Amino acid sequence: MDFQDTLRHQGLRKILVEGIRIKGIRDEKVLAAMGKVPRHLFMDSSFTQFAYKDQAFPIGAGQTISQPYTVGVQTQLLQVERFDKILEVGTGSGYQAAILLEMGASVYTIERQRELYLKTQSILPQIGYHPKFFYGDGYKGLPTYGPFDKIIITAGAPAVPEELLAQLKVGGRMVIPMGPREKQTMYVVVKTSETEYYKESHGTFIFVPMLKGIDK
Ligand code: SAH
Repeated sequence: MDFQDTLRHQGLRKILVEGIRIKGIRDEKVLAAMGKVPRHLFMDSSFTQFAYKDQAFPIGAGQTISQPYTVGVQTQLLQVERFDKILEVGTGSGYQAAILLEMGASVYTIERQRELYLKTQSILPQIGYHPKFFYGDGYKGLPTYGPFDKIIITAGAPAVPEELLAQLKVGGRMVIPMGPREKQTMYVVVKTSETEYYKESHGTFIFVPMLKGIDK
């Protein structure tokens, strides 16, 4: 694979980031990270020419790399701080994980599709990104590695997964698209005590579904 990040790629990326700023992403740390991560290296070769369009694209196994604007929204809502310990459900291409790493977080990412898990685990370190990769069911989370400061779910869930809420620190935030398969509402869930939380909604999005169990 060719891991070049040419001036042309960098120029297209700058335009993409300015477009996302206009659409409402105002957190400079998020925009800076999106300006650094070479999205074209996270996509199948047949789609790399579209890497700097603000669109989702297929990444194999019936899954997609999220639209950059959506990545911007989720990352901004997560309020990432340096050294945050973050759990991501749905590794996919690894693009979202790279953005979080670029912001100084330590990232634990779970994928249920074996093919994607293996592919991304081998490619991401070659681009310079080192999250901790796990093959498993994101509904279960990573009880032995928690609790986490933040949790980000990158697939559409039917409801707040209780096991994940239990792995969130008090004061921590979970960003999760929830709703029926056709469309979901973006929620921030803030855990206020061991037994309580509140949630805020932030617009409508379309994600691939968060599925139970693993896929061999
Ligand atoms: N964050 C990814 C987005 C990938 S799409 C990126 O930046 O490219 C969502 C991913 O969630 C898919 O790869 C899908 O296989 C995965 N997924 C769905 N349900 C899951 C679950 N229960 N546990 C772990 N991963 C899951």
